Amino acid sequence: MDIKMVNGRWMKVELLGLAAAVLVACATGVEPVREGAGGAGGDVSASTTGDVVGSSTSNTTGDFTTSTSSSAASSSAASSSAASSSAASSSAASSSAASSSASSSSASSSTGGVVMGLALQYRAADTNATDNQMKPHFRIVNGGGASVPLSSLTLRYYFTAEGNPSQIFECDYATVGCGNLMGKFATTTGVMADHYMEIGFTAAAGSVMAGGNSGEIQARLHNQDYSNVNEANDYSFDPTKPAFVDWTKVTLFQGGALVWGTEP
Ligand code: CA
Repeated sequence: MDIKMVNGRWMKVELLGLAAAVLVACATGVEPVREGAGGAGGDVSASTTGDVVGSSTSNTTGDFTTSTSSSAASSSAASSSAASSSAASSSAASSSAASSSASSSSASSSTGGVVMGLALQYRAADTNATDNQMKPHFRIVNGGGASVPLSSLTLRYYFTAEGNPSQIFECDYATVGCGNLMGKFATTTGVMADHYMEIGFTAAAGSVMAGGNSGEIQARLHNQDYSNVNEANDYSFDPTKPAFVDWTKVTLFQGGALVWGTEP
């Protein structure tokens, strides 16, 4: 008698928990679905390109530099964290993967389905918050079971521009080739953010193999006039991350659907 009652209560609690989990999944899945649908074909970039800051856009693709001075120093730190971070990212990615799978039925028509297990890692290569450059480095980790074409992915780094209208994107080094990156800026709204820098990839950038990563993407941002910035109020900046680590305050999109991170 008592056992049945206990079981009955326990089952009710479990059902309630399941219902809550479904609600959470639905709630977190709303954002990618809305964005994918809002782009009329899933192309979120189409709706954001109108916000691109004018003068910086034309400069971005032609401004790639091939300075590799910082890459040698950072490669050892990167390799040491590669093994452990990919393992850590798989569990961290599961929460976003769960929500994206809930929305994939509607998004798959235009994106071909969201790949689960992608993670975006970040490193603050310049921890001085008030000098005239920002050096966020990235690495895309594929913890899933299928290779992912980089051309299907874009990543975003969010910051406040202190009213300065023009930023320049530079690539100091990228394993996939700086010439295969497409950097641009756009305005946005949110906590500690009024702009974001977006990096996309050409088809020649290739794919991130299952269980592999993109290698380093060493971005460098500065105001067109090289005036000082203030990164202390930037959403994506974290000077406590000098080595690559999963970082959810930068975002990764696949086919226009959010697959990693939290927007500001
Ligand atoms: Ca700022």
